[in-house]
Amino acid sequence: MENKINLINRIITPLFDKLMNCNICPRNCHVNRLNDDIGYCGAKNDVVVYTSFLHTGEEPAICGNGGSGTIFFSGCSLKCEYCQNYKFSNSIVGKKLSENELAQTMLNLQNRGSDNINLVTPTHYLPQILKSLLIALKYGLNIPIIYNTSGYEKKEIIRQLNGIIDIYLTDFKYISDDSAKLYSKAPDYPKFCKESIKSMSRPSLWNNSNNLLKKGLIIRHLVLPGQINESMAILKWIKNNVPDAITSIMFQYQPYYNSSKYSEINRKINKQEYNIIKNLSEKLELNGWIQDFKPEEKLAGIYFKPEL
Ligand code: SF4
Repeated sequence: MENKINLINRIITPLFDKLMNCNICPRNCHVNRLNDDIGYCGAKNDVVVYTSFLHTGEEPAICGNGGSGTIFFSGCSLKCEYCQNYKFSNSIVGKKLSENELAQTMLNLQNRGSDNINLVTPTHYLPQILKSLLIALKYGLNIPIIYNTSGYEKKEIIRQLNGIIDIYLTDFKYISDDSAKLYSKAPDYPKFCKESIKSMSRPSLWNNSNNLLKKGLIIRHLVLPGQINESMAILKWIKNNVPDAITSIMFQYQPYYNSSKYSEINRKINKQEYNIIKNLSEKLELNGWIQDFKPEEKLAGIYFKPEL
């Protein structure tokens, strides 16, 4: 199989060209990012990283003794009304990193023992990230690369990442256009998310020495209050369309950011909602994890691990 360096070299120039008339994500803003024009995501040409650290609260498949080497990028192409990371997703805050500095960040995380490199909300900086990844690979980066996304992606771009990205960790937020429009101003989210998840689908490959995922697809679904029918439809879609995907069902919702504008989501999940989703996930025999009713705050962490 062709190595990652060759694969990146093949796609990097056409991807950078897309930034000139930006259509990297489904928003299709058509602004010249290389000229520092700003589209929906808020990002210019330079990569801005809010923070990077060894994350110990991610799913057990990607978070071992070392922790997941997480890099949070600033800005977002989706911008949900209830975003818990709104401070750096809705504005560009953090440190501007050159391509060499971002590569060094990846290598530093590896040197500190991280289990993988976890690129959080990378979509709008994809060409720049790949350029840094190219440098890091040349200097010895050899741990799995995780693409941690909202799911608002174009399938043709996801396909180009085949062989470069090892693990997809994608959200599946909405299956109805109305919900996607209301809470994320993206009525086409369900279409793009379903198509991109199918393009991300691949068999899971495990590292037997540490029981961590080397390659695979993890689908995260954050259950929203009052939206149980939506959650049920999403879980059934996963079962019917990508049954081998690992599913991570999350109940850690809290009414952050603009949630108070919407009375139905301006609260936490209740026990009845939790039980309905938990029972359905067990009935569907989904692979993966489901959080406790009251998960520890701010952890994507998972507390119940059925056999994979
Ligand atoms: S990456 Fe940003 S500028 Fe480009 S299309 Fe998406 S939201 Fe618009």
